Amino acid sequence: MTSRRHFIRTSSLGALGLALNQQSLADEPDYKFKPIVLSTWRHGLAANQAAWNIINSGGTALDAVEAGVSVTESDLTNMSVGLGGRPDRDGFVTLDACIMDHLSRCGSVAFLQHIEHPIQVARKVMDQTPHVMLVGEGAYQFALESGFKRFVGEVPTAKAKAAYDEWLKKGEYQPPANVENHDTIGMVALDSHGNLSGACTTSGLGYKMHGRVGDSPIIGAGLFVDNEVGAATATGVGEMVIRIAGAHTVVELMRHGASPQQACEEAIDRIIKKHPDVADKQVGFLAINRAGHTGAFGIRKGFQYAQQAETGVGLYDATSRL
Ligand code: ASP
Repeated sequence: MTSRRHFIRTSSLGALGLALNQQSLADEPDYKFKPIVLSTWRHGLAANQAAWNIINSGGTALDAVEAGVSVTESDLTNMSVGLGGRPDRDGFVTLDACIMDHLSRCGSVAFLQHIEHPIQVARKVMDQTPHVMLVGEGAYQFALESGFKRFVGEVPTAKAKAAYDEWLKKGEYQPPANVENHDTIGMVALDSHGNLSGACTTSGLGYKMHGRVGDSPIIGAGLFVDNEVGAATATGVGEMVIRIAGAHTVVELMRHGASPQQACEEAIDRIIKKHPDVADKQVGFLAINRAGHTGAFGIRKGFQYAQQAETGVGLYDATSRL
């Protein structure tokens, strides 16, 4: 455990170190950034590969994260991201996504229905509107006007509908928030130009209340990027992440000297402290900085993340507090 006292004791020195580190990265013309892609859960492996193909051929982290998580959104067997996701408690599949780049530009959609790629709509919100976030019917209309098509397949999918019908049998018309019914993809990447970007997309907590929006499309909660410092993303019970402005908190801790790993741990400790009852609840954070250092930490065992870099590809178990 990163003790708070230890963290405070080392943070001012750490901040100096970070400042020098960032300064030296920027000042060194021959410095070669070490590109890397990190994303949440096992589905991150396929997503990272698509992102890596772009980064490895000199493309931008922004294009990479958009393409990467689009792979997961298209996988209709995935019951936590995209239109294959579990419905809300009234039977509707509603999607949330956001994207952020190295210039702190960002775009987001929430409570969006019938569109296969919410992340691509979020990118259009960023690129083509003066706004950051569009929701519901407005986001849907904007998507259609931007050339996206209404999805024609069966939604919820047969698999998601079967799970929903099973859930309904128990008659628990309560939005559950536990370790089993969520698995957002959050992705953060560093490209060879030294730029960071991130993307986050989800169908949200299974059987949530109709209209509920979690952390995933909220800039600063499910995702945050500051190119001077680092990038972070979150997965798990969105309400717990929002309450501490999770991804922003991780990045700010890095700004003040924490390593990506220390920052993820400190943010999880803050969540645990503010939520006396974390039984059965999971939150996981992932973080990177411009030096290509990474961090990953969950409330409890089970949080996995995928990583791809020149050094290789892997799926890892994050460390955890419980
Ligand atoms: N963070 C997401 C939400 O609360 C859930 C997840 O990680 O799958 O909507």
